[in-house]
Amino acid sequence: MSVSELELTEFRTEVSAWMHENNPKDPGFLLPQTFMEVGDERQLEFLREWQHKVWAAGYLGMAWPEEYGGRGVDPSFQTIADQEMRRHAVPISFNIIGLGWAGPLINDIGTAEEKQKYLKRILTAEDVWCQGFSEPENGSDLGNAQTRAVRDGDEYVINGQKIWTTMGNFAQYMILLARTNPDTRRKYDGLSFFLSPMNIAGVETRPIRKLTGEYGFTETFFTDARIPADCLMGEEGQGWKIAMQTLQYERGAEAGAAGGQMMVRVTVEDMINELQGVSRDEAAVLDDPLLRDELVRAVMEEKSQILGVRRGAIPGLSSDYPGSLLLSGKLRMSESTRRMRQLAIKLQGAEGALYVGDEEARQRGFWQRAYLNSFSATIGGGTSQVQTNIVAEHVLGLPK
Ligand SMILES: Cc1cc2nc3c(=O)[nH]c(=O)nc-3n(C[C@H](O)[C@H](O)[C@H](O)COP(=O)(O)OP(=O)(O)OC[C@H]3O[C@@H](n4cnc5c(N)ncnc54)[C@H](O)[C@@H]3O)c2cc1C
Repeated sequence: MSVSELELTEFRTEVSAWMHENNPKDPGFLLPQTFMEVGDERQLEFLREWQHKVWAAGYLGMAWPEEYGGRGVDPSFQTIADQEMRRHAVPISFNIIGLGWAGPLINDIGTAEEKQKYLKRILTAEDVWCQGFSEPENGSDLGNAQTRAVRDGDEYVINGQKIWTTMGNFAQYMILLARTNPDTRRKYDGLSFFLSPMNIAGVETRPIRKLTGEYGFTETFFTDARIPADCLMGEEGQGWKIAMQTLQYERGAEAGAAGGQMMVRVTVEDMINELQGVSRDEAAVLDDPLLRDELVRAVMEEKSQILGVRRGAIPGLSSDYPGSLLLSGKLRMSESTRRMRQLAIKLQGAEGALYVGDEEARQRGFWQRAYLNSFSATIGGGTSQVQTNIVAEHVLGLPK
């Protein structure tokens, strides 16, 4: 499908006008900065309504098939819609596990029935999805997952515990990695992948409080929970392969995602603008030569991210270490975001110690919250240390 520049430009004008007109006003309560921070029903309902509205206008799931609620158009349209959402600073899309990884997975390898059953309801925000991969003893060592799934007639019986389940208490479905066979030679061969309902007997979620003070994730307990056997995705024993495919989406390959914003984006320029008026010992902090050095470093990091993304789209420019940009993207992005937000706090001097709820906190504590939030991306989906190992071994070919 070839799309003309003119078509894309016209589309940008259209979507920009729509975002301008429909960007919801400040609801009067704190909205989450990332999909991992949706902590209460009020936030959930606000964001659900927003996602539904964006989808109904035709700006979400644009590249997904029409028969499953998408628009079936070239992905470049979705890229433009996403850019305009960012430019107009609209609220985040909260259902990212559905839109960004369960949905693309079902689109790629799901059966026709699975696509029919799940995809549209992800887009319309009727069904919220969560991810049941990590366990108390097995986060980075995902292949060692111990939650059991035992076949019993037309059902599987699930027992075990998952942890750090983002939006576990709101979700209707979970992408679940569980062990169907404990006796395989390789631990990876005994795992299976399920599209599992949450609102059934034997599934219990308990909220966990985060560093930011919000309740964005849960512990999830399965006690003799019975799910229909057709919740199994692919074949029994293929779970590891499917989980690895899911992680590809999660770790930054945006391919197949329905679109939307998974987090509030802020640039170094936003930070500089915000900190214009801050002074220390009666001198503007932005004039401090040492801090200016750090700012220049932040600008360079940000520019290199942008150039890296562009470079990744040109095969000839990434052929020295194929796959390197993809594999290292999450690591570089999450770490530089964390450093940039740390700098924003540092620039505030003593004011940096104020938090959400302090009347004198700048921008109602936006940067403080953003800084604490920024740790989540350096852990979720694979910690920075584990990502560094992956780059060392798979890109640079260093010994284990
Ligand atoms: C905000 C947030 C949301 C999350 N949402 C979800 C979710 O929805 N669903 C889900 O399933 N999980 C979720 N997670 C869990 C996340 O994927 C795990 O926390 C992560 O994989 C790390 O596992 P762990 O916490 O068990 O740490 P561990 O694996 O115990 O690691 C502890 C420390 O040891 C280091 N380490 C471990 N192994 C190695 C190694 N081989 N080499 C070097 N260093 C190593 C780690 O980097 C880390 O610093 C979420 C996490 C966060 C923070």
